[in-house]
Amino acid sequence: MTKENIIILPNKNLRLKSKKITIINQKILDVIEMMKAATIDWDLSREHEVGVALAAIQINKPYKIIIIRNDHNKKEDKTFKIFINPTITKYEGKQLEDYEGCLSVPDIYGKVLRFEKVHISAIDQNAKQVKIIAEGFLARIFQHEIDHTKGKLFIDHIKSNPNAFFKLTQNGDLKSLNYEKDIRNNTILW
Ligand SMILES: [Zn+2]
Repeated sequence: MTKENIIILPNKNLRLKSKKITIINQKILDVIEMMKAATIDWDLSREHEVGVALAAIQINKPYKIIIIRNDHNKKEDKTFKIFINPTITKYEGKQLEDYEGCLSVPDIYGKVLRFEKVHISAIDQNAKQVKIIAEGFLARIFQHEIDHTKGKLFIDHIKSNPNAFFKLTQNGDLKSLNYEKDIRNNTILW
């Protein structure tokens, strides 16, 4: 499994709603390993980015599984936490705007509003119940990844905001995009 297995826009499967997992069998465990391998391989090809998380639909497997890297800042960290059937049970605090990118929307970043705190309910790969309260960047990651399980992408949240879209340059900087030319009429995105 490599980065080539990560589906990107305009692949319509990114818009599928993922299925709830009722039994964690070998097939599901294999999907989890494939997700990790694809994310790590993607990292190697991206000089300025770290693959912090992935949803199963991003490798074209429509299951409610997300993986989140334990250390979001370090490519050297190749360990992930697994969340199966993740749901947000409570939103808390203010909605804050920050940059967000996606392995399935290459080179485009957006300033997206997300709640600063979310309560998460899921099971892990051993079918053990997991309940956590995520804050800050981790809360943002959960909201982004759980959106994927519903067929939603970060760009959908900012579709009509002309000032929210940026492009990652070769130097690793973010440069404002021309909304009319690059975004609104971009048939790859919509
Ligand atoms: Zn994403």
